[in-house]
Amino acid sequence: MSSKHRAVGLLSGGLDSILAIKMILEQDIEVIGVCFTSPFFDNLIYTKSITDKLGIELKVVNFGMDYIEIVKNPKYGYGKNFNPCIDCHTYMLKQAKKLMEELKADFVFTGEVLNERPMSQNRQALQNIERDADLIGRLIRPLSAQLLEPTIPETAKVIDRERLGSISGRSRKPQIALAKKYGITDFLQPAGGCLLTDETFSKRIKDAFDHNEDSINDLELLKIGRHFRLSENDSAKIIVGRNEQENKRLNELAKDTDLILLPIEIVGPTVLIRNYKNKNLVLPIAAGLCARYSDKSANRLVKVKVDDIIIETEPLDESLINKLRI
Ligand code: SF4
Repeated sequence: MSSKHRAVGLLSGGLDSILAIKMILEQDIEVIGVCFTSPFFDNLIYTKSITDKLGIELKVVNFGMDYIEIVKNPKYGYGKNFNPCIDCHTYMLKQAKKLMEELKADFVFTGEVLNERPMSQNRQALQNIERDADLIGRLIRPLSAQLLEPTIPETAKVIDRERLGSISGRSRKPQIALAKKYGITDFLQPAGGCLLTDETFSKRIKDAFDHNEDSINDLELLKIGRHFRLSENDSAKIIVGRNEQENKRLNELAKDTDLILLPIEIVGPTVLIRNYKNKNLVLPIAAGLCARYSDKSANRLVKVKVDDIIIETEPLDESLINKLRI
């Protein structure tokens, strides 16, 4: 094992976290990058391309049900949509702390910049996160370190505070200058963001949690198709595929207790029904949705198959569709 000091760096994929890694590497400290994946975000391919370019090791932590519980009941509430950013960030740091201990690293660091986001990155918020993640004195924000309280590795001269940054606020100029200094010009932008910040996805996840649909399979379903919820007497969910790929995925995710509908004789979507109580009530509606999103034949009646039953139906009325849409 190398005698170098080492640190665990959170990789969000943005420029700031790359700059933070550069600053730490510059001080001859070994850096192990960590990235997190969940049903709501996954930047693994992009992150791997960054750590490969930087020549550092990458550890991946997959979030499971305990993270879902945090999304359901965040201590600090939600942002604009269903994004519990403060709780999420604290959870990430707790995972990074575990890695720090496992890898016998000296500290954890992030690309956070003081006051870049007035609510979540002011001095008090940064201190609260450090405390809640149980990382007091062991969490360095290299880009703003000179403006924050000295940490244990700084006091112990594991790292030279004078060579860390003093960036504060929303202007990106200091980061752009630093990127130039480090020759960072060709880093790709991350592909996908966090679905919890997406308005449509947030409506779907709230509806799913309200109906106790919170398994990983339930959450994967939220990413595809058009979603509908019956309201009276039966709170079944109906999902209609929008293309071949989504139809395939619906079949992959279908459970034994779900119903799958398919149009016959014409091209149309796969329709999945989950958590139904009354088959007789839900089937005509789901078949009507299947007909609505099929390539309609000259004859407006569409045949839809479910198990060994064939239903002949007209497309569901547009006003009812809008009422049921999640
Ligand atoms: S945007 Fe998403 S991944 Fe990022 S901190 Fe917020 S909830 Fe977590």
